[in-house]
Amino acid sequence: MALVRTRFAPSPSGFLHLGNARTALFAFLYARKTNGRFILRIEDTDQERLVPGSEASIYEDLKWLNLNWDEGPDIGGPLGPYRCSERYDVYKVQLKRLQKATRVYRCFCTTEQLDQDRALLSSQKKLIKYVGRCLNISDAESEKRAATENFVWRMHIPPGDPVVVNDVIRGKVEMSRDVIGDFVLGRASGVPVFLFANAIDDAVQEMTHVIRGEDHLSNTFRQVLIYQALGHEPPVFVHLPMIGSEGGGKLSKREGSLSIGDLRKEGFIPAGILNYLALLGWSPGDTAQTGEKFSLKELSERFDLERVHKGRALFDYQKLRFLNQQHLNDLSLEELAKLAPPRKPGLEGIWKDAIALVRQDAATLEELYRIDAFLAAPDLKSSPSATTILKGENPKKALQEGLSLFEKAVAGNQPAEVALKESIQAAGKTVGIKGKDLFFPFRVALTGVEAGPELVPLAKILGSSEIISRLKNAIEFTASNT
Ligand code: GLU
Repeated sequence: MALVRTRFAPSPSGFLHLGNARTALFAFLYARKTNGRFILRIEDTDQERLVPGSEASIYEDLKWLNLNWDEGPDIGGPLGPYRCSERYDVYKVQLKRLQKATRVYRCFCTTEQLDQDRALLSSQKKLIKYVGRCLNISDAESEKRAATENFVWRMHIPPGDPVVVNDVIRGKVEMSRDVIGDFVLGRASGVPVFLFANAIDDAVQEMTHVIRGEDHLSNTFRQVLIYQALGHEPPVFVHLPMIGSEGGGKLSKREGSLSIGDLRKEGFIPAGILNYLALLGWSPGDTAQTGEKFSLKELSERFDLERVHKGRALFDYQKLRFLNQQHLNDLSLEELAKLAPPRKPGLEGIWKDAIALVRQDAATLEELYRIDAFLAAPDLKSSPSATTILKGENPKKALQEGLSLFEKAVAGNQPAEVALKESIQAAGKTVGIKGKDLFFPFRVALTGVEAGPELVPLAKILGSSEIISRLKNAIEFTASNT
C-alpha cells in the first residue's frame, strides 16, 4: 500500500476550536497508526475571512496539543508550499489542464442576475443551480468580453450517471449531476474558489486520505468531478460526523466556540483534551479491561477509521473533565506545580505541599488554585459559616483554650501541625465538647468554611504564627458575633 498521507487544512479565519481540533487529531492518529505522514496546510485563499494572528495561534495550539506535523508551511517539505496563497501558480496550471480536458467557460453573470435567477427558481419550486446563461458564449466572444467585463470560471457538468463518493464512514453516497449544476472554480484574477484549490492541493500533494467534517461532503461531489476530469484517482474520503450538543441539536454558542485556547485557560491539559476528543466520535472497542483513559501514543496505536461512528457525536463537558482529571492524576506534584505555578508572591516554598491538599478533587489545573482561598486569612465577617458556627460560649471557650495551649506547645518547639491537633483535643476535653462541635469552630476559625482541605496538613503549611493570628481573629470575632 502507498504511504498514507493525511492532512489538516485549517483556514486561518479563527482559533482552533473543538471541532477542528478533533479533525486534526483523527488525521494525525491515522497517519501515525499507519506510519504515514501528517501534513499541515493553511487554506488562506479567502482573504476576506482572514483573522490576523489566527495562523500563528493554530500552530501554537497544535504544538501545545502535541499534534506535530511532518510537512507544513513553517517546516516545508517535498510537496510545498503549504500555504495556499503561495500556490496560485499551481492552481493556474491545473485550471489550464482542466480547460483542455473538459468544458470550463467564463461566466459573466452579475451577482444581481444570479440573485434574480435564484429567486425565480425558488418561486417556481425548482432546483437552485446556475441557469447556464453563459454556457454557449463562443470562445471568441468570451475572449473579447473578458477584456472589459468581470467573470468567473465555471465547470460544465453535462447530464450523466450520478457522482459517487465512497466514504469510509457513510459508505457509498451519490449525488445527481443535475443537482450539482455548473459550478464556479475561480475568479478572473486567477484566485481559485475554496473547493477547487482544496481538490488540487489534495491531488498534487498526494493525499491518500481526506479526513474532514461532514459539512464538506457537498463539496466532495464537485471535487470528485474535478479529479475525474484531471485523470486523478480521488483520495479516500472520511467525513466525520458533526459534534452535537448534550441537549440535542447543534453545539451551543458556548460549546461550539470552545476553543483550545479557552480550554487551556480553564486548566485542561493536552492529554485530557486529546483523550476526550478521540472518544468524541470514535470508539476504542472493548474497554472492559483498559478503561477509557488513553495517552496519545496509545491512541496512535489503537486508532482505526472503521470504528468512527456514523451518528453525531455529543459533546459532554463532564466527561471531558473526568478524563482530564484522570490524566492530571498521572502527573507528579513537581509537574503539577510547574504547569500551575503559584500566582501570589511568597508561596513558592510551600506550593507543592499546598496543591497536594486539593489535587484529588481538581479536574483541571485551574481548580488547584482553590487552595489560594485557604492560604489567605479568612474574612470571617463575610463568612456565613463563621456567623453560625462561631456563636455562643463553647466555641469561644474552646478557641481561647486551644490558642493558649497551642502557643505554649509551639513555644516548646512542637511542630505546628502536631501542636494544633493536640491543642484542639485538649481544649475539647476542658470545655466538654467533641466531634463537629469541637472541630467546626477551629476549621471555620482557620479557613472561614466548614468544608475544605484537611486541617492538620494545612496547619503545617500555614505555620504557627499564621495559626495564632487566625485563632486570635476568630476569638475577637466571637465577641462581636452575638
Ligand atoms: N479549510 C477547510 C476548513 O477549514 C478544510 C477543508 C478540508 O479539510 O478539506 O473547513
